[in-house]
Amino acid sequence: MAKIPVGILGATGMVGQQYIRLLEDHPWFEVAYVAASPASAGKKYKDALRSGWLVDGEMPHRIGELIVGDVGDVKRAAENCAFVFSAFEMPEKELIRKSESDYAAAGMPVFSNASAHRSTPDVPMLIGEINPHHLDIIPAQQKNNGWKKGFIVVKPNCSLQSYLLPIYALMNAGYSVEKLIITTMQATSGAGYPGVASLDMIDNVVPLISGEEEKTESEPLKILGTAKAGKFIPYKGLTISAHCNRVPVSDGHLACVNVLFGKRKPAIKEVLKIWKEFRAEPQALDLPYAPKQPIIYREEPNRPQPKKDRDSDKAMAVTVGRLREDNVFDLKFVSLSHNTVRGAAGGGILAAELAYKKGYLKA
Ligand code: NAP
Repeated sequence: MAKIPVGILGATGMVGQQYIRLLEDHPWFEVAYVAASPASAGKKYKDALRSGWLVDGEMPHRIGELIVGDVGDVKRAAENCAFVFSAFEMPEKELIRKSESDYAAAGMPVFSNASAHRSTPDVPMLIGEINPHHLDIIPAQQKNNGWKKGFIVVKPNCSLQSYLLPIYALMNAGYSVEKLIITTMQATSGAGYPGVASLDMIDNVVPLISGEEEKTESEPLKILGTAKAGKFIPYKGLTISAHCNRVPVSDGHLACVNVLFGKRKPAIKEVLKIWKEFRAEPQALDLPYAPKQPIIYREEPNRPQPKKDRDSDKAMAVTVGRLREDNVFDLKFVSLSHNTVRGAAGGGILAAELAYKKGYLKA
């Protein structure tokens, strides 16, 4: 089978480099185009990396030789690839929103890691195991915008990837979750490269990540929401309160979670069984980037830990531990996911794999 040529927008950044690494041996998609800021455009990819190759393994030689395009040059992207993964920054969110819409208008599907389109009512915000059916809004989105082949799908913020899947598994098993208090400890790579200054990060915890708590509290409601008349109506049955902290860990966002259920409360044994057995559409379809077991529970009393657990199952599994009774709410636990893989590039690839299987992506 000929692979579908894909482009990476923001290819020189932290997330862009993860896309390149993860797509190197992908069975369906092949990186054929890379783009970044005007300062990088026109250079060979290997010469455009101002901070070098930041992710694991060697930079693929073939990619190093590609000439970097300008993210603003939609026409050139359209000549070189069938769809794009978007992971670029710009000084204003509105500029990213417009740029991604320009790609969709030019006939190119966009799978975005940026927050710009997350609140656009007809744009699905996807976690492959939770709301794959939200992709079914694509024809309505295309009609709303007058787009023929292009569309936009976004990834949610990386902060919520660690806890939402275990919570969703319980909701899916019939236990309504009404309130959550979340305290995250988020890796420095979540701020891109070079991110937070090292002197602010060594021997320290920074108790503010601008805008992160708002995203952590609101984005799950869209993901759990329903589509009606071509737009998403957020779920109303859940209230979330979040503290988001930046900690001196390279990769892996950890979340401490306190859960209040509705009338029915599962016993601890039942929760463990639900998590162990949880499987969803990406697993049923055996997608290349789907973890075999999406939620891994560690029995050891001091797990999960970023260093030991973030790479579980291609760094796509969520690792959970320390499930116990809570004196204030009902239960509490700790969960972990890899922020630049599950929370960014790997999650974006999984969304594209689902779209491909549903017939929305063509070469
Ligand atoms: P990053 O390392 O700072 O990379 C930024 C990328 O954007 C680079 O390729 C850069 O190109 C490009 N860029 C900068 N200014 C530009 C401009 N004016 N026009 C076009 N391209 C421009 O950031 P990152 O961590 O990879 O994050 C990328 C996106 O993913 C962000 O929206 C971020 O919020 C999101 N995200 C990040 C994570 C994470 O864990 N890091 C997780 C989820 C989502 P040059 O090299 O040419 O400057």
